Formats: sequence, C-alpha cells, structure tokens
Amino acid sequence: MTTEKHGFEAEVSRLLHMMVHSVYSEREIFLRELISNASDACDKLRYEGLTNDKLLKDAGEFAIDIRLDKEAKTLTVSDNGIGMNHDDLISHLGTIARSGTSAFMDEMSGDDKKDTNLIGQFGVGFYSVFMIADKVDVLSRKAGDKKAYLWASDGIGEYTISDAKKEKTGTEITMHIKKDADEFLDVSRLKNIIKTYSDHINLPITLISKNEEKDAEEPEISEKVNDGTALWARPKSDITDEQYKEFYHHVAHAFDEPATTIHYRAEGKIEYTVLLFIPSQQPMDLFDPSRKPKVKLYVKRVFITEDCEDLLPGYLRFMRGVVDSEDLPLNISREMLQNNPVMTSIRNAVTKRVLSELEKKAKKDSDGFNKFWQSFGSVVKEGIYEDFEQRDKILKLSLFESTADKGLTTLDDYISRMNEDQKTIYYITADTLEAAKRLPQLEGFKAKDIEVLYMIDPVDEFWLQMVPEYEGKQFGSVTRGAADLDDKEEDEKDENTPELDALIAVLKTNLGEAVKDVRPSKRLTQSAVCLVADDEDMDMHMERILKMHNKLEGETSARVMEINADNDLIKTLAAQATKDGSVETLKDASQILLDQARIMEGDLPDDPVAFATRLSAMMAGSFK
Ligand code: ADP
Ligand code: MG
Repeated sequence: MTTEKHGFEAEVSRLLHMMVHSVYSEREIFLRELISNASDACDKLRYEGLTNDKLLKDAGEFAIDIRLDKEAKTLTVSDNGIGMNHDDLISHLGTIARSGTSAFMDEMSGDDKKDTNLIGQFGVGFYSVFMIADKVDVLSRKAGDKKAYLWASDGIGEYTISDAKKEKTGTEITMHIKKDADEFLDVSRLKNIIKTYSDHINLPITLISKNEEKDAEEPEISEKVNDGTALWARPKSDITDEQYKEFYHHVAHAFDEPATTIHYRAEGKIEYTVLLFIPSQQPMDLFDPSRKPKVKLYVKRVFITEDCEDLLPGYLRFMRGVVDSEDLPLNISREMLQNNPVMTSIRNAVTKRVLSELEKKAKKDSDGFNKFWQSFGSVVKEGIYEDFEQRDKILKLSLFESTADKGLTTLDDYISRMNEDQKTIYYITADTLEAAKRLPQLEGFKAKDIEVLYMIDPVDEFWLQMVPEYEGKQFGSVTRGAADLDDKEEDEKDENTPELDALIAVLKTNLGEAVKDVRPSKRLTQSAVCLVADDEDMDMHMERILKMHNKLEGETSARVMEINADNDLIKTLAAQATKDGSVETLKDASQILLDQARIMEGDLPDDPVAFATRLSAMMAGSFK
C-alpha cells in the first residue's frame, strides 16, 4: 500500500489555520456543509446514471447516513453519490477552486475576528470540519472505479492520500471530534442541527448511533431525521422563511438572505414547479463573460443539470433556485435540452413571471426594489436589447439617476416632470455618476431646469442604440447634435460678434482635421469649451467603450468643438483673434482648448507631453 504526502495550497493553509483556531460560535454549520456536499454528490451520480446505468449498478437507493460513535469520539457522514478518485481528492480537498470558498477568501481581511464572522456568512464548505475535528478521514470510491482512496489530514499544512478498500461507491467522511466539541457527539443535538439546516434535503438522512448500553439487544439505533421530500414540492403554507433560506443557501451555494422568493406551480398544458430566489447580494460570477444562468433543472424531483442555458435568459442570470418539470423525459440529455419546445415555453413563462414579480415589488416595496436595482439593474437592462418581447416591460421597470437629484427615477416619472414643450428624454452617458455630474455639456440643461438622466452602465449605450423612443418620446443625448435649448426672447443674442467669428475661424484653421466644426455653444453656461458628437456620429462615451474592448477599428471620429461666448477666457481669446497674425499667436491656445475639452470627457490629450509643454510655456509667460 502506498501513502503520498501532499501540502495544501497556500490559500487553503491560511483558511485551515483559521478553521483550526476558530472561535466561531456556530460551529454546527460543518454538518450542513457535509450534508450539502453529500446531496450534491448523489444528484451528480443520479444524473450520470441516466445515460450510463452501469454507474448505478451498486448504488442502491440514494441516502445519507450519519453514524455516531461516542466511545471512539467519531462522527461519520457517508453517501452513495458520485465519489472522488485520487485526482479529485487533490483538486477538491486540497485547493480552493470552488464557489463558496473562493468568495470567502476574497472577503478575508487577515483579522482573525472579522474573518471568523465570515464563516457564518459563507459556510466555506468542506474545510469547516476542522472547526470541530482534529483529524478527518475521507474514504472515497468514484462511481465506475474499482479503486478507493483514503484522504486524511489534521488540517495543519499537509494531507495524505493512500490506497484503500471500499465496498460501495461514494464517500465516507469520518471526523475525530475535538475535546471542546463533544456537544456534537450528542444525538439530540445532532438531530436538531439536521432538522434546522438540512430538512429540505431531497434524500433520507439517517442518524445511526451505537447503543451505549452494555449487552443491548440492538447494537445500533437509527432514525430518519429529515422530511426528505423536495422542499419545492411541499405546499407553500408548510414552509417557513427559515426553511426557504436554508434551501437557498444549499441550492445557490450562497450565504446571503434571499431578497425575494418566488414559489409556484404551473398547471395546464405544461406542468412544472418553480422555486426561485433573487439574492440580496451580487453572486461572484454575475459579470462572467459566459452569462450563464444557474437555475437547477429537475425532472419529476430528479436533478438533471444546473448547466442549462435555456431555462432563463442571460439577463436574469442572477436568479437562483429550481425548476422541476413534469413533462420532460427523465433520461433527457444536455443536447436534447437545447431548443426543446417544453423548455422554451417554460423559459418564456418563467421570464414573464419573474418580471411581473419585479413589477409587484416596485409598486409595493420601492426601497426593496431600489436595492434590487442597484445590484442587478445593469444586468436586467441587457434584456432591453436582447428580449424584444419584454422590452417595454423592462424599460418601465428601469431606474436611473438624474440631474433632478431625487434618487433613482423611472422613465414614467421623468416624463411626468418634463417641461411643457419638451419632446425629448435627455440623457448623458459616462463611466460613473461622479464623472457624469461633472460633464460641462450639462450646464445649459441645468440652467434651463431641464432634467437629464445619467446613463452610467456600459449596457446603457447598447440599448440606447436600439431603442429610439419610450412612450412616444425620443431619447436624446446631450453630448450629440445641436442642443435644443433656444430661448425665444434671447433669439437676438444668437448673432455672433465679429470677434467670436474671428476666433471660430482661427480655431478651425489651427485645429484642422482634429475637429469637425467649431461653433458657439448653447449647452455651456460656465465652462469655456466642450466637445459634442455630430448628429450622425457615435456618442463619444460609446466610442470610448468600444475602443476599450477593441471593438472599434481605426481613428476616433472628429468631434464638434463648442465654445462658450460668455466665458471670460473665450472673450479674451476672441479679442485677440481679430488682431493681425492671430492664427500664429493663438496656436498653442487653440490646441490647449481642445485638449482641455478632451480631458473633461475623461480622455487623454492626443499628445500629453506636448500639452504639458504648451501649458508650462503659457504659465511661465503669464508671470513675466
Ligand atoms: P462546494 O460544495 O462549494 O463546491 P466544498 O468545499 O463544500 O465546496 O466541496 C468541495 C468539493 O469537493 C465539491 O465541489 C465536490 O467536488 C467535492 N466533494 C466534497 N464532498 C463530496 C462528497 N461527499 N462526494 C463527492 N464529492 C465531494
Ligand atoms: Mg459544499
């Protein structure tokens, strides 16, 4: 027999150090974690067995046993699930590659007290056994394999893997309970923990304890502890909030509170049960490029897959939970799920239901909905351009910050505040709210009390390209085209002075191709200068996003430069512009004006060094 020694990955060692020295008061969660893993393992084997029934040959009924031996001071959790082979043991129980644990590591601060509190929030999976055990043996045999392995560790630095014998496939985890953790050698305490955290588990959990009485007729006493029926199949009225929460933690591998729970049964031509949760915190993988939804598909209570892209659209990928179909065949393969008509109708109906639940929430609980929107709004808005059918519904739900500074507002509320003759829903796009608020193009709108929406999610640029209007009102970017801010009485002011015309001519000459046009601005009231996109050109922020993602080839389009005739600097420059040789004397000033406008956009000057040199020369000049 061979035994190999392995060191834990450095991160795991750090985690284990914490577990071993943990003073966390709810150490009982280790059992929830082991039961959750055991149940996942059975689900996996059941699914693999659908297409490869040899794997199920010696599995029998799926079940979880918890065996208590007070004398030996051990607790053993065993399952007849998928099991782990040599390499699985190393990668699953020696590194950190998994959902809950890596989220935990990201939050860890290095301050033991703070980190200990995180254990409850995250669970941290398998490694939590080292809170209550000073030695752990994992005996496992993978379905389809003859060989079994024994993984053993005291949670300090190293673990060993040895060849072993195991009659049935599955995993058996034996904990040698620490002295200060003997509360977990008590039958009623254990029953209580299982009831509290694992009642919803879809398999029988049996507690077996060695009979302590000497010469007892029954050497072992055993009892099924959990309800064992799938939680979603039970009537709503029988389920407590606490049970929903525990189920959410299990099914989502998450540890926040579910913000919204949607549980119903659809009857009719297609029958299925839905138990979905909206998390209160953003899941770790929310912005993964794969955009995969994580809802688990069951068929008649049997787990099929959690890798089912057709169950929910990508813009609802933050949802977690279960959809259990009565109509799909049990032996359905992942390939057969694609473009399956039953799946399509479930997906459409569930999508509608989720959106209408969100509508309800927006009406009944606007604080709760605002919170939801802050976490998931930028994802939901992908639906505006992806899901034509739901577009109007999503637009109606969408919330935006605006110059009205009233917090988040709907488009309907914006429209209700529009000025009498205003035809356009104005918006400005930027990377952040702070950046948007500073943009000079807003000045004229603010001065005229015209509300402008801040569009600060990258996704906004994309849907705005595809949605020209809402409720008959055009969307209009305040950084594109001529600003429609005319005041009838002030019409005569529109005449340019000869000085301003001269400055415009000088700027055009000096800046050449770098600008598309130079014109007096209606949107500036304070700043000297800003850039805007010409009517038919792409918005500047959009162009920047595309460039960032390498989606745009070639040169950036030239912009229209707008100058503020009332600004002191512009007045001074305009006075200079009528003098002889002004094209030459205003050469640096022209370039600095353009660079300054670019900087306000959040861009760099074309040539930062030249910009600094010019500015230095001007500053030096001003003190002569
Ligand atoms: P998570 O469950 O979030 O993935 P854990 O730390 O709880 O993280 O478990 C780590 C991994 O170890 C699991 O993803 C699984 O692959 C494997 N594992 C743990 N327990 C078992 C088990 N009883 N049977 C089979 N595999 C298991
Ligand atoms: Mg786990």
